[in-house]
Amino acid sequence: CGIFGYLNYLVERDRRFILDTLVNGLSRLEYRGYDSAGLAVDGESSDETYIFKQVGKVAALKKLVNEQQVDFEKAFISHCGMAHTRWATHGQPSQINSHPHRSDAKNEFTIVHNGIITNYKEIKTLLEKKGITFETDTDTECVAKLTKYVYDTQKDQNLTLTALVKLVVKELEGSFAFIFKSVHFPNEVVCTRRGSPLLVGVKTAKKLKVDFVDVEFGNTTENVTPTPAEATTGFLSAEDGHPQLHRSQSRAFLSEDGMPQPIEFFLASDAAAIVEHTKRVLYLEDDDIAHIANGELHIHRLRRDEGASTTRSIQTLE
Ligand code: GLU
Repeated sequence: CGIFGYLNYLVERDRRFILDTLVNGLSRLEYRGYDSAGLAVDGESSDETYIFKQVGKVAALKKLVNEQQVDFEKAFISHCGMAHTRWATHGQPSQINSHPHRSDAKNEFTIVHNGIITNYKEIKTLLEKKGITFETDTDTECVAKLTKYVYDTQKDQNLTLTALVKLVVKELEGSFAFIFKSVHFPNEVVCTRRGSPLLVGVKTAKKLKVDFVDVEFGNTTENVTPTPAEATTGFLSAEDGHPQLHRSQSRAFLSEDGMPQPIEFFLASDAAAIVEHTKRVLYLEDDDIAHIANGELHIHRLRRDEGASTTRSIQTLE
């Protein structure tokens, strides 16, 4: 099984390039074994998500995608897509059980997952009691549905995608690598892992001024209401019960002249799917919550964790 994700920022890419990149990324992960494959990309605008999935080989997914009535020439200056090969653990291999999984018929939240959520039955039962219905037999679907449930019930909190994912992941037991995408947070993704591998590749034309990432500790969601402006530029923590805004000390990826620069990010279970694009990678640690938006990558932690290292650096693969 495997995960592959792609984001571009200030780089014009048409949908054919994006789809080819996703499918090609999956084919590099085929050796890991799988029974079905799928992907999600932005629709005609980034407040809409298309999902394609298919039982069998990545080649079968590629064929399915190529037969679709989508605008392959449509260019995106900013776009995020994600793809998955599934090795079924809960729910038989079938088109509906393939990933990405979605929160609802409008695809408000879309996720890909490798691993097993061991407490999915409890979550599913809880959501069913709230009137939420399920379309698959997978453990993963309950995470997509839980994400929308938390988003809907905490709407007045103006949660960031990072804060939302933290609330969701805190409820999960088991092993996982996830990518979360949402029509409510266009051109952003949050990804996280515990026990299953996930790394981020960073590709820029110009040399990076800053190539490490500050790690933010603390709880960004309790007792605080981030304003949308703060939510995109800084972090909130409820340290000692006194909510405080912490601006990241380093802007993650500025070019030498200090200006935002064209940048592409690649997410994958294995460097084998990234090296043909870039050799500069950052390996996520367990319980890292990585947020990519506006050409920047920020790493948060699921919970306060005193002994943990506070920086992640990008390494150059041989
Ligand atoms: N447990 C999930 C499922 O059965 C993910 C399996 C995987 O890692 O591919 O759908």
